[in-house]
Amino acid sequence: MIRERRVTQQVRAGTLGIGSSYPVSVQTMWAEALTEQALPAVCSTMESLRDIGCSLMRFSVPDDDHVEAVRRIASWDIMPVAADIHYDYRLALKSLDAGVQKVRINPGNIGATWKTREIISKAADLGAAIRVGVNSGSLPKQYRDLTPVHEAMVSCVLEYVDLFEQLQFPNLVVSLKSSDPETTCEANRLFASRSPWPLHIGVTEAGPLIPAVVKSTRALSSLLEEGIGDTIRVSISGEITSEVISAKEILKTLGLWDGGVTIISCPKCARASFDTHGFFTQCGMELERLKCRVTVAVMGCAVNGLEEARHADIGITGAGKRIIIFSKGRVVREVDQADALRAFREELERLCTRS
Ligand code: SF4
Repeated sequence: MIRERRVTQQVRAGTLGIGSSYPVSVQTMWAEALTEQALPAVCSTMESLRDIGCSLMRFSVPDDDHVEAVRRIASWDIMPVAADIHYDYRLALKSLDAGVQKVRINPGNIGATWKTREIISKAADLGAAIRVGVNSGSLPKQYRDLTPVHEAMVSCVLEYVDLFEQLQFPNLVVSLKSSDPETTCEANRLFASRSPWPLHIGVTEAGPLIPAVVKSTRALSSLLEEGIGDTIRVSISGEITSEVISAKEILKTLGLWDGGVTIISCPKCARASFDTHGFFTQCGMELERLKCRVTVAVMGCAVNGLEEARHADIGITGAGKRIIIFSKGRVVREVDQADALRAFREELERLCTRS
């Protein structure tokens, strides 16, 4: 059972509210260099990810060329943009001036405290947010050998938080990540018991698709069930779209996502006369974009399909050479294979218009 959400400070990153007064949001991170040639793909990807529910996109900013790139990206106003800064505090200042709504820093690698103060002061002047991110693998020297690791992570981040609080900075988000789901959970639980700042949660360096989704689901579901976590990322060595879809799916499964499609689909077997796998290749993203709250069943055959998915608001299944579109276990239409997707889309649109 989901516990009541942990009450946090409320933070703004541009149009995105972060904290217990707002829904848990999904974010992701661009994985490539921001060359001139890459920008059109960045734009179309951001629009597509926004349409399926991503609320913030983070970009690494390792040099001045990237500052100029995030200036352009932020000006598109597709969704709030965060600049990820390591080592050079001037890149954080320039990114903030360039219009990003959030910077992510690890004060441990920014260097002298006055540099972090400069970043805080600039962000405060511009109304931008700062995420202080600490990862278990990159703790500063004085914390590196302390055990247990999650306590060292929290002690370290609380030291940073203290500086932000002294300067009365209002827009702080914290993250404590490890590649080990259990350490991630323990660090976030401990921080949540000691500080009111919102938490961005995720398992770092989680691996390719399947290990990343399994580890992230393990950690994020546990924390979210305890009411901990205000933004989430499923970090995957792979497709960026999968990060957003899997994060959304975790929230949907926990009842923390408002609207959207719940999918029931069969894995197929020798009885299948409808290609459920091919259906998702063609219609998967359309379903992800839908805002109306419906349960969609995609079944290979009518032998089990109709019966097992009878609670679905709309379903599609094979029946010999024909395709059946059904709703709540009742056949709505029977069409040829060639007309299947068109008929399904029409019925789905009708349903969403009604609901
Ligand atoms: S619904 Fe039909 S095709 Fe799909 S797994 Fe079950 S029996 Fe096989």
